[in-house]
Amino acid sequence: MKRFEKADTIRQYLHTFRTESTIGFVPTMGALHEGHLALIETARRENDVVVSSIFVNPVQFNNPDDLARYPRTLEEDCQKLEAAGCDVVFAPSVDEMYPTPPTLHLNFGSLETVMEGAFRPGHFNGVGIVVAKLFNIVQPDRAYFGQKDLQQVGVIRQLIRDLSFPVELIRCPIIRETDGLAMSSRNRNLTAAEREQAPALFQALTLAHDCLLDEQSVTQTKAVVTDFFNEKPEFRLEYIDIVNANTLQPTDYVLAPGQTAICLAAHLGKVRLIDNLVF
Ligand code: AMP
Repeated sequence: MKRFEKADTIRQYLHTFRTESTIGFVPTMGALHEGHLALIETARRENDVVVSSIFVNPVQFNNPDDLARYPRTLEEDCQKLEAAGCDVVFAPSVDEMYPTPPTLHLNFGSLETVMEGAFRPGHFNGVGIVVAKLFNIVQPDRAYFGQKDLQQVGVIRQLIRDLSFPVELIRCPIIRETDGLAMSSRNRNLTAAEREQAPALFQALTLAHDCLLDEQSVTQTKAVVTDFFNEKPEFRLEYIDIVNANTLQPTDYVLAPGQTAICLAAHLGKVRLIDNLVF
């Protein structure tokens, strides 16, 4: 596996492949787990060359403590990437990506006034900037993103359309631990006791799903989930929303199969967790 830290060097290296090979790209912030590796494996099956990036993007963090606590395990990550079949990794420094702080501001309109966008002001501006930069550096044919960050998928879809990136976006399913907890780099920051409690997020999603299948209203369903967390004082529920999985806008009704998403975010100790279920 080739490893690059400089944008110019990786761009030049990939140039030789561009005409005759397809490039699949998996952007990450490192601290890799099986969720990330599943994206690499899918990219491996569908492309000639697989490129991944590891970059903890300061511009997308609205909370300095969250950025400081974000786990960094570069050497271990590179070993996992190589074992999963990644060909090229790009792990730039902050100075390499941002020689000066970016002045560009991206506005994703209604996509970012809800859920993560509402609770993490500026987050999607930072995501959009870094993904646009990475697309320009790597110039992939396909880019792989996890449904774990469903709203991010919507934002990147819009970014690709608005800026005419010649990139096919592939949404990949959520990989979970056996107890249902969605894999996340932030899970490493849970204490042992919190780790035991964390599957409650997935339980809450399942509960909401059951309520909706049982023809309870969206309002009733959200109340059931709110009550569920009220009985668990270790959690602070931030939002539970039932939305259109593509537009991310709240819906009062269950939509066509695969179009409805139940999304939630909750704080557990110092860790903020998100999860969703699309059905
Ligand atoms: P991150 O390193 O958290 O920025 O995530 C990098 C990519 O991996 C994003 O597209 C995430 O949505 C995806 N991802 C993170 N966790 C999971 C998971 N449990 N299952 C599938 N994809 C995931």
